Formats: sequence, structure tokens, C-alpha cells
Amino acid sequence: MSFLDIYNKYENFDFLDFFSKVNLNDVKNTFHKETLSSYDLVVLLSNKSDVFLEELAQKARSISLRNFGKVIFLYTPMYIADYCVNECSYCGFNARNAASRKKLSLYEIKKEAEYIHSTGINHVLVLTGESRIESPVQYIKDAVKILKKYFSSISIEIYPLEKEEYKMLIDIGVDGLTIYQEVYDKKMYDKVHISGPKKNYLFRMETPERAASVGMRTINIGILLGISDWQKEIFFLAEHARYLEDKFPSSEISVSIPRIRPQVSGFTAPYEINDKDFAKIIIILRLFLPRAGITISTRENAYLRDNLISLGITRMSAGSTTVVGGHGSSKNNSSEKTLPQFQIFDERSVDEMKNMIILKGYQPVLKDWMNL
Ligand code: SF4
Repeated sequence: MSFLDIYNKYENFDFLDFFSKVNLNDVKNTFHKETLSSYDLVVLLSNKSDVFLEELAQKARSISLRNFGKVIFLYTPMYIADYCVNECSYCGFNARNAASRKKLSLYEIKKEAEYIHSTGINHVLVLTGESRIESPVQYIKDAVKILKKYFSSISIEIYPLEKEEYKMLIDIGVDGLTIYQEVYDKKMYDKVHISGPKKNYLFRMETPERAASVGMRTINIGILLGISDWQKEIFFLAEHARYLEDKFPSSEISVSIPRIRPQVSGFTAPYEINDKDFAKIIIILRLFLPRAGITISTRENAYLRDNLISLGITRMSAGSTTVVGGHGSSKNNSSEKTLPQFQIFDERSVDEMKNMIILKGYQPVLKDWMNL
């Protein structure tokens, strides 16, 4: 069995019809439940739950405090290559974009690592575009060997790998994987992924399972909000996370829900998610997934990020850049600059983020794991 079986079970479920029949008592009935069912999840995703948003937010706050305390874990993304063979219509690294590409040398990776390390960050998320030819697994391995000297935790967000490849990377020091399904709706998935290996919906969907099955410590899955109807997409994301939690109890599962940001290909998100709905999404994810991490990225503005912390956020990126070598190695060399994957909204440094978190009454955590 894989998550596809669960997806298939609900693929043709008439969400709109269900939503139209939800009443206020259905929402109230979820208030005192410790564990929410799939039925409860759809009830909360309906517009009827808007009436009780404050009550639901309070419950989400108390679950977060009980399970995580008042701590926010900080990490930074580190782009080491932007070559990509896929045509994802929403992404600045899209293979169709004629922009010049870059891949850091091992020396430049060391320079980036030194810079990031000097900011106090201990956990990096290493990103590449998806090109096995330009960024082969051996390149990732060589990069990780360098990064291990500077960071206690290394996660990767690269093209989907086979089990043995994940095992190889785990053995040399990778402990986290981020992989977005991007959009669960199959038709929309096919439409926005115009060409390239990423068109393989099932291989991508089963990626978290391949990594978890060989011992990946943390798995972060996500969708891009705005590509399809958020209520259905959040349903499948939440179900996918719970499926992974149940099947792989020794892996920590977390979810990310970035909203689409402007980028060079000019893609406009067909679905709008306003700030109120975005906050509601975080509340529902916390209620349905009490133990899962929830990440809020720099795609959101500083004001919103600061004010959503208490609802259930556990991880935030800081000092972010979406450009290859954007931290140190090509930061001051405009001739080396390549295009960003997308525009970020919150450009605060690690120190600024730490100060904000403390002002909010929380503790910023830069190290929660040591890969020995
Ligand atoms: S989203 Fe990923 S796979 Fe798609 S174009 Fe961008 S970098 Fe490539």
C-alpha cells in the first residue's frame, strides 16, 4: 500500500457537496476530540468553521504549547545549483527560462558554508534544481561532506531519488528531506508540469516513503498554495502527513504550505488564498496533525510570519536567499548573479529573526539535532 491508495479513495469525493451540508454542530463536535478523523478534517475545511475560528485558534495554540513548548527552530536554505530539466510553469528555474545557470564549485560551497555558519545557523537545507546530469548524486555527496564540517543538521531538497541513493546520503550525513508534491490534483499536476521527469506524479508522491523506509530522520512534505483549490489540497496534504506519521513512526514528519510568489516565468496563481484562509490552514493542520512540524517560509511577509507563530508554527527560515551562492560566494559579484527561484518577502537576517522570536516570548533554536 502507498499513499496513492488513500488518494484514490478520495480523488472523486464531492467536497463541495459535503461542504454545503456541514452545519455548526458538526464543527462544534470537533472541539473536544483529541484525535480528529478524516471526516472532522473536511468539516473544519468547510466555510462553516469560520464562525469558530477564534476557538479553534485557541485549541491550536494550546496543542502547540503542549507538544512543542515556546520554541521556534531556525534554518536557512542554501542553493548550490539551479540547472533544471523540468518545465514547471510556476518556477523561475524552469528549463524554458533562458537565464544563465550556475552550479557552485566545492570551494564556493565551502565559502557559502563559512558565511552561513558565521550567522549562527546550524541547520541548512541544500537545494538544487532538478538535473541529474548537472547535479549528480556524487556532487550532492561531495557537497554534504564539506557541509558536515559546519552544520549539525543537513537536509536536502533535490530531485527525487531511489531508496539506495537516499541510504547513501543518509550514511554520509544527510538527515532531512524536503519534497513537495506541489499539487495533489492530478489534472492540475499534469498541466503545470509541462515536461521533464517531474511529470511522473506517482514517483514523486512515493518519494517521502522511499526516504523514510531507509531511515531518513525528518521528512518535510508540502504543496504550493494557489495552484489548485486549497481546501482539497490541504485535505490531501494533511492525510499524506498522517499516513507517513503512522507508517514511519521513527521519522519526524512536517508540512510546508508556501503561497506562490512572483518569479521570472510570470505564472499567475489561478487560486487566491487570503491571509485569513492562510491562518485557518495553519490552525487546521495543527489540530489534525498535533505532532507534526509546520514550516512558514520567507514567501510570507514579516508581519504575517510574526503573528502566526503562536498558532502552531515550529520552523522558520531566516537569512534566506533563493539565488545560487546568494549567501556569500557570489553575493557581492553582480556578474555571477543568476535568477532567483522566486522572490522572497521576508528578507530579515538570522539575528533579526532571533530578536523577533524572543520579543514574541519564544525561544529561537538553532540546533536541535547532532548527526554524529
Ligand atoms: S520547481 Fe523544481 S523541478 Fe520545477 S522548474 Fe523549479 S527547480 Fe525545476
